Amino acid sequence: MPQITRSLTKTQRAIDLEDKYGAHNYHPLPVVLDSGKGVFVWDVDGKRYYDFLSAYSAVNQGHCHPRLVKVMQEQAARMTLTSRAFYNSVLGEYAKTVCEFFGYEKMLPMNTGAEAVETAIKMARKWGYEKKGIRTDQAKVLVCEGNFHGRTISIVSMSTDPASQGGFGPFTPGFEVIAYDDIPALEKALEDPNVCAFLVEPIQGEKGVYTPADDYIPKAIAACKAHNVLFIADEIQTGIARTGRLLCSVPDEETDPAKRPDAVILAKALSGGMYPVSAVLASDEVMGVFTPGTHGSTYGGNPMGARIAMEAMAVVQEENLTQNADRLGRVFRSEMQKLVDAYPFVKLVRGKGLLNALVIEARTATDGSPKTAWELCILLRDNGLLAKPTHGDIIRFAPPLVITEVQVMEACNIIALSVKQFA
Ligand SMILES: *Cc1c(COP(=O)(O)O)cnc(C)c1O
Repeated sequence: MPQITRSLTKTQRAIDLEDKYGAHNYHPLPVVLDSGKGVFVWDVDGKRYYDFLSAYSAVNQGHCHPRLVKVMQEQAARMTLTSRAFYNSVLGEYAKTVCEFFGYEKMLPMNTGAEAVETAIKMARKWGYEKKGIRTDQAKVLVCEGNFHGRTISIVSMSTDPASQGGFGPFTPGFEVIAYDDIPALEKALEDPNVCAFLVEPIQGEKGVYTPADDYIPKAIAACKAHNVLFIADEIQTGIARTGRLLCSVPDEETDPAKRPDAVILAKALSGGMYPVSAVLASDEVMGVFTPGTHGSTYGGNPMGARIAMEAMAVVQEENLTQNADRLGRVFRSEMQKLVDAYPFVKLVRGKGLLNALVIEARTATDGSPKTAWELCILLRDNGLLAKPTHGDIIRFAPPLVITEVQVMEACNIIALSVKQFA
């Protein structure tokens, strides 16, 4: 019998290839994207969608922002990588820009978020030994229940998510997990003199945009300062205008170091989705623990990433993305609140700026099929909006911050229609 050659659709071919040759460490929504512009992405058949994930808030500036494309092309043709064996003509300018932009004295450049988290942990431990006087190898870092800080062995060592951690031991010691959004729990843990740092997300994005009480972060900062413990904000997802501020953990106008995080970790939108760029920001005193040879990365601080990141920050500033996220976030949540009021299975909307989530009640249809956040995301896809479910009952909504009010309203109509069809 002659072999039957099946003509696959472009979508099915892409999915089959990833499935056959790629490790199955993700469970993507079945849509194959081919291009993007601003708040929109297009699939391989030319169908347009609102992107309400923004690559986990990496694409705050919108897909293929023309200014970022331009500097990336220019820098790619000029010089891309020098290593830190030499100085390059961009890194110094970038370091100045990022420090002034976020209000810190020093930065250390890395590439991915996880690398920057690792950097911050190393910095905190060394500070603990050299400045706080903790005995060798006794330093502890406090982290929170439900945290997400990345995927390296040391980072999953502090995870409380069984899927992130299971099967990957033995784990790195020196972490203590405390309850999130719980000041008494933090106060108690801070009594241990071996604690060098508290590493925390101002909103737990991967937990489902879990948003703590408004006074949690300021109180936590004050408690850490009182105990001579570094407060380290993981702003990889919440930072760079996403929540209606440059940094979620501190108002833009706050200049008092006593009320600001001792260190901030940035990645994702630092390069507007063009290129992996991450950084740790801190004071001279804290960052001073790093001396030549104690830490590094071949690509960290490369002129390509540095140039893109400078432009990405300029876009945030000049296009008023902070104010836009704050204003349109309120519009979005008030539209979602209407769904919460109208449908019993829509439980609540939460978030800040344009980092929000809708919590639904996962159900079973009369025919026994599941009706979870996943099925609702499939409906949203069919109606032209992409979002990703977490934990079976939560959908995160995080569009690029260049979105307009008209677009927010159109997206809200798509969500409302999908919820109606789902009811
Ligand atoms: C995405 C993320 C990370 C990890 O960043 P990668 O670039 O994926 O390594 C760490 N912390 C938070 C809060 C994140 O959202």
